[in-house]
Amino acid sequence: MNDCIFCKITRGDIPTKFVYEDEHVVAFPDLHPKMPVHMLIVPRLHIATMNDFPNEPALAQSMMHAVQQVARDCKIDANGYRTIINTNADGGQEVYHLHWHVLGGRAVGRMVST
Ligand code: AMP
Ligand code: ZN
Repeated sequence: MNDCIFCKITRGDIPTKFVYEDEHVVAFPDLHPKMPVHMLIVPRLHIATMNDFPNEPALAQSMMHAVQQVARDCKIDANGYRTIINTNADGGQEVYHLHWHVLGGRAVGRMVST
């Protein structure tokens, strides 16, 4: 997956300051933030979509832990935030390397536009 942008970031080919990292995942700011705080949590393993998430409890645990840590470090844990995983075309997925958005810093608003 040499041409995958998030693989390049997780591998360190594109120098990126991680706000969180562990054995399984990294977190870094979204290039085009949609909110005052907009972080992405990305597995080191190339996983295309949520549909492909492996039966790997340690990875799931890291993803959850990363959300907590990022929210705490960005000081949005108390006021609140939204986590989003977009999947495939109807979900609006643009980068086909699984990632969780963590959005906060102000009220996020309605859950989806209708
Ligand atoms: P999604 O629509 O869920 O696939 O979201 C992809 C997200 O990745 C968008 O919010 C983009 O702004 C973000 N993005 C794309 N390229 C980069 C990059 N090089 N560094 C950080 N974020 C990126
Ligand atoms: Zn990838």
